[in-house]
Amino acid sequence: MTQTATNSRALIPEANLDFDAIVIGAGVAGLYQLYRLRNLGMRVQLFEAGTGVGGTWYWNRYPGARFDSESYSYGYSFSQELLDEWDWSEHFASQPEILRYLQHVADKFDLYKDIQFSSEVKSATYRDDTRSWEIQLQDGSKFKCRFLITGIGLLSQPTLPKIPGIDSFKGQSFHTSRWPHESVSYSGKRVAVIGTGATGVQTIQEICKDVGHLTVFQRRPNWCAPLHNAKIEPDEMKEIRAGYEEIFETCNQTAAGFLHTADSRSTFEVSADERYEFWENLYASKGFGIWQGNFKDVLIDPKANEAMSEFVANKIRQRVEDPDTAEKLIPKDHGFGTRRVPLETRYYESYNRDNVELVDIIDTPIEKVTPDGIVTTDRSFEFDLIIYATGFDAILGSYNKIEISGVHGRRLKDQWDDELSTFLGIQINNFPNLFMILGPHALLGNNPRSIEFNVEWITDLIGHMTARNLTRAEATAEAVESWYQHVLEQGEGLLANQIDSWMTGVNSNLDGRQKRIIARYSGTQTSYRQRCNEVVESGYAELNLM
Ligand code: NAP
Repeated sequence: MTQTATNSRALIPEANLDFDAIVIGAGVAGLYQLYRLRNLGMRVQLFEAGTGVGGTWYWNRYPGARFDSESYSYGYSFSQELLDEWDWSEHFASQPEILRYLQHVADKFDLYKDIQFSSEVKSATYRDDTRSWEIQLQDGSKFKCRFLITGIGLLSQPTLPKIPGIDSFKGQSFHTSRWPHESVSYSGKRVAVIGTGATGVQTIQEICKDVGHLTVFQRRPNWCAPLHNAKIEPDEMKEIRAGYEEIFETCNQTAAGFLHTADSRSTFEVSADERYEFWENLYASKGFGIWQGNFKDVLIDPKANEAMSEFVANKIRQRVEDPDTAEKLIPKDHGFGTRRVPLETRYYESYNRDNVELVDIIDTPIEKVTPDGIVTTDRSFEFDLIIYATGFDAILGSYNKIEISGVHGRRLKDQWDDELSTFLGIQINNFPNLFMILGPHALLGNNPRSIEFNVEWITDLIGHMTARNLTRAEATAEAVESWYQHVLEQGEGLLANQIDSWMTGVNSNLDGRQKRIIARYSGTQTSYRQRCNEVVESGYAELNLM
């Protein structure tokens, strides 16, 4: 057990608490939460399953992993000193640099002393008599605390395809988010990648340069757009640093926390020339502008979306030499931006290489994995390495992995099976003193911006409680219902909510997850923040505090 802060104070001594608060997860969310709660003078302990800090950026070490949001919009904004001293080397930093950044944060704010690594939380049980949570780790050790805060991520439980024979493969194989820490040699080898989401795209475009032969098994293609990454020169970093205030202010004003936000015009309100010039500019610009900064109706109006999709389809046709391959890479079952847009760097050109082959597994499904490779309905392939870029049990997976029970032994999984509802994506009825950072029905987008907001909101609430010797917080049933209805209303009319993807909770590799759900908040950041602020201004009237 690591030591705890010396300026701590127990809140309810008779509960025999080990800690005032326990935070789960040492990613962007958990690290900041630990820092903020410690600043309140609390005894805080963070448990992390991995052997180091970083969360998403600790686990996802696959080649080519990098930010899709501008580095300087993705770091923490809370510390001027941190902003002053950290230089980003690229507009979209790579995973090793991001991991170094988060390790630097943990060092700088002396967070390691309150983090226990290799400590996966198995269960969390609420005791109403002592208003406390009891946490059990996989090794059997138990800890009691007043407040439990989860920073367990929305894309942290990988899912593998259910393909017969998957364990029989003799070569190396792994999911991208479990990429081994020791270096993996793929140079000159026969490699398969299954999956073409944002992760598959980043992996494919990177490893194709070194592998002997790459076979990409694609089920449904995605609409990808150029990232346009570039180095940040020292002078440019100076300018970025001078503009941090404006950068974060912009992020705080946009719909989803990115530097980009929708154009105020509609697609057909402008002339065709103007429209195409606008789209050409977006296609030539850095980052998510093409997705988040498009005409305001592109993600809502089917006709506008169709026109935008056709524009991108033509780009794919221009970039991929073989017309049949190009057609296979163009999505036919969903429009541009209705699933998360993978940003790419010469991804489409990868398919012009002699050593890369695209296999459409809707035409010729995979039948089995064998000791030597993969068999489709059409052919047998031999591989040295199989990479599964097959995604995650998104949003719910990291909660379902922990046995969480609330008042009267109510299991969170059962409650969410009945109805997935929360209050602000932070609290859950029947689960007092449990606070989620980016839980279901929270605002996703440029996540660090939402994380900082959520962490500060949770910290303020806990501060409010401790100042008044309050020891139990639970959102009222009415508050949960009202948030639930608001989430449903905000999700209406959005094309993305009518498409199967992790964002709508669909995962073909999990039983019972074929039906779409509203799993995230689709309103704007402004409306989300306003709602959260109103709760504070009302003195937390929608929470039962005692
Ligand atoms: P994903 O978007 O869910 O993509 C999974 C891919 O695997 C899809 O192409 C899917 O095909 C395929 N697949 C799944 N099961 C399969 C099966 N049984 N057989 C064949 N193919 C199968 O997962 P992801 O690419 O890991 O990305 C998830 C999210 O992580 C992204 O959307 C993004 O939010 C985040 N991410 C962020 C970054 C970044 O910021 N830089 C980078 C990577 C990922 P179907 O489409 O047909 O289901």
